[in-house]
Amino acid sequence: MSDFLKNNILFGGDYNPDQWDDEVLKQDIESFKRAGINLVTLPVFSWTKLEPSENVYTFEWLDHILDRLEAAELHYFLATPTGAQPAWLSTRFPEVLPVDIAGRKRMHGTRVNFCVNSEKYRERAAALAGKLAERYSERKGLAGWHVANEYGTFCYCENCQRKFRLWLKNRYGSLEELNKRWNTAFWNRTLTSFEEITPPTELNDDCFLNPALQLSYQRFMTDSTAQCFENEAKILKEATPGLPVFTNIAGNIKVLDQNRMLTVMDIVGWDNYPAPDDPPSLTAMYHDIMRGLKDGSSYYVMEQSPNQQNWQPYNKIKRPGEVRSIAFQGLAHGSDSVLFFQMRQSAAGQEKFHGAVISHSGRTDTRIFREISELGAELKKLGGSITGAKTRCEAGIIMDWSNWWALENNSGPTVDMDYIKELHRYYRALYSNNIQVDFLKTTSDLAGYKVIFVPLLYMLPADTAERLTRFTENGGTLVATYMSGRADEDDRFVYGTCPGLLREVLGLWVEETDALFPDEKNGICITEGFRREGGFNKDYSSDFLCERIHPESARILGVYKDDFYKGEPCFTVNDFGKGRAYYIATRPEPAFLDALVKLLMKDCRLNVPFAVKGAVEVTVRENNNNKTFFVICQDPEGGLIDLGAGSLTDRLTEKSLSGSISLRFRDVLVLEKNQPKI
Ligand SMILES: [Zn+2]
Repeated sequence: MSDFLKNNILFGGDYNPDQWDDEVLKQDIESFKRAGINLVTLPVFSWTKLEPSENVYTFEWLDHILDRLEAAELHYFLATPTGAQPAWLSTRFPEVLPVDIAGRKRMHGTRVNFCVNSEKYRERAAALAGKLAERYSERKGLAGWHVANEYGTFCYCENCQRKFRLWLKNRYGSLEELNKRWNTAFWNRTLTSFEEITPPTELNDDCFLNPALQLSYQRFMTDSTAQCFENEAKILKEATPGLPVFTNIAGNIKVLDQNRMLTVMDIVGWDNYPAPDDPPSLTAMYHDIMRGLKDGSSYYVMEQSPNQQNWQPYNKIKRPGEVRSIAFQGLAHGSDSVLFFQMRQSAAGQEKFHGAVISHSGRTDTRIFREISELGAELKKLGGSITGAKTRCEAGIIMDWSNWWALENNSGPTVDMDYIKELHRYYRALYSNNIQVDFLKTTSDLAGYKVIFVPLLYMLPADTAERLTRFTENGGTLVATYMSGRADEDDRFVYGTCPGLLREVLGLWVEETDALFPDEKNGICITEGFRREGGFNKDYSSDFLCERIHPESARILGVYKDDFYKGEPCFTVNDFGKGRAYYIATRPEPAFLDALVKLLMKDCRLNVPFAVKGAVEVTVRENNNNKTFFVICQDPEGGLIDLGAGSLTDRLTEKSLSGSISLRFRDVLVLEKNQPKI
């Protein structure tokens, strides 16, 4: 990693100067310097301008722009512009165009509209990456490589079908094994040759009626996309071993298994576009998911909007202070950058209404430019003090893409299954109590955590079950929910009784699962012996799913309020080894989860840095034995934080603070403990 990346919070973003003339470039660079911008990403969508016909390259225009940027001491992430192939490539070689899920051959247009398995696409993309590496790898302004853009297009062409068959042969070894793992005897889907395998599309309805095939195709397309990335990345890596090579992860993270994608990338880069009405807890959760992809390493926010978006149904302009609080929320959760899409607003095209640091007016005496400049000055004060800093968490949530896909591929038990929404319920309860959370893989090491939540861990690999069991046995606290432990990694139900491999640690078995209508409720009546002062002092409502469970060794903490299973258990705890495992058999209202988190904070001694009143988000990042506390007031009514008797310095104002501090909506503090004078 270069000194520039180590010593600076990256501030700037996507810039497309090839859309303007030299005079605009000159003005923009002057404006960037005034705003404290230190890095731009380019040329993300300029393939044709760099290669106007096959093997004919025109780099001079880019040379000139890079010269200008370097003269102003600006750095850049160079993008391989392979997120949108040239029209000449699609026209001469139609094989690069994908076939969609309806079986239609796509025409040239839009972006990320290519087959990731196309040999011709990969050949031309690698050739261009090679030319860029050859020409620019010694450049002083080069800070890293940004490959393509927001991968995620699935293709169902004949080439993909052929590669899918090979992928399956490699995964399962034999047809017998595949038939067994997919349970193809159901609906007479038995295969007698790999040549009979077809992708799951609308032409065979397997895209929603064949969960084992759907899951395999989701894994196959992820592997194919990772290879497509590597096709370029390995060339760039070879040219500049010390610089990071990555892509920007799109907002719709479901389509590709990002844990798999990150095995071939140096760093996480993602695009943060909260909707105007998204709660801050949801954005915080996405940040924490991103930090988890590289096991807690810091990451880059590659894009966020400095003002309104254009593709939401209603594109609110950012309120005063909103860009700043969104930027600091990223830094608070592990980002080392504040990068925007885009630096200058497009003159035309699909995103011409999308906000930018410099708007169509071209002026810098605007509200947004002023706010960006103020933010730039604040980030400069922080310098490299937080880059690479880690977050130490005592609580973890296991989140898994295969589990996500399998849950939502399923027909039943409810059409309302939404894994991210369910995860967010549990995350929000921890977040609102300022318990920092690591998102963990099914393969993650669980040592060191006090509490692990495994919401809806429907697909449970045997080794994960084993590690969760050991974690609990050794004194950890496990929280599992409805839809746990039903299926193996091929989405085959575990025979015997669910929750399968977690049965012993949870001390119960599940007999059946009732799905409630959207407006239907049940409830959790807390048992007399478990009622607590402060929390769990009332009954709670529940909805969505109600499992009928049978405790074996688990103790009953709550029972159903209604229906024919009224009085039957729905909330239990099982003492197991030195630890304990809670089970929640129905989806509880938020107040229940808040009470549960407060109980865990006490019982498991979960640490929070400071007491707060109101929705005040507090996180800590640690670097070289130095702790930086981020405080963001997310409460429109304002809030309070109690800093205690010790003295802290706000890095943004250099003021020394202690005791109770009032905060207004969107106030931000970046605090460090004052070192005792020697
Ligand atoms: Zn294809």
